[in-house]
Amino acid sequence: MYESGQVRKEAAITTSVCVYRFFMEYEEYAKHEYYMRLALEEAEKAREIDEVPVGAVVVRGGAVIARAHNLRETNKQASAHAEFLAMQKASSYLGTWCLDDCDLYVTLEPCMMCTGAIILARIANLYYGTKDPKAGAVDSVIEVRKISRLNHHVNVESGYLEQECGDILRAFFKEKRQKPKRDKSQFKIDK
Ligand SMILES: [Zn+2]
Repeated sequence: MYESGQVRKEAAITTSVCVYRFFMEYEEYAKHEYYMRLALEEAEKAREIDEVPVGAVVVRGGAVIARAHNLRETNKQASAHAEFLAMQKASSYLGTWCLDDCDLYVTLEPCMMCTGAIILARIANLYYGTKDPKAGAVDSVIEVRKISRLNHHVNVESGYLEQECGDILRAFFKEKRQKPKRDKSQFKIDK
């Protein structure tokens, strides 16, 4: 009797621990998904003004302190990427270049420039949505996570709202391909 009672008790404890862990993990996942959805909202703002739809938010202590979207065409700046602008805003807000107590959420895997800026700003955690096989510098073209000699290592997690972060980009470029190309002959210079 004692043994079966003990087994039941242990089984109940194990189940409770599993349920607790499940809810803790779910809560953690839901938190990241929430912030990534805010980044996706920024990506949507970029799409509305015909910019490549990428968005980013910077979070500190649970509060969103900066949000931005890609403005490369609008600003006519190659560096006007969503996460780069979001980090600039965060630095202005906090009055420091050092963002070591901040987390960055961005819908697309950061490029070389942005990955460099993320490391220089000492971002604590980077969460990105979908991979960029052509320019990603975290896991794709360059695997910055494997460069051990860097003096700062950002913790990276990916795949939050991956499908939606990728879908908005795919739809944008599909639409671009379907539009008639500009007649370049009008730009020819008479000799
Ligand atoms: Zn970038």
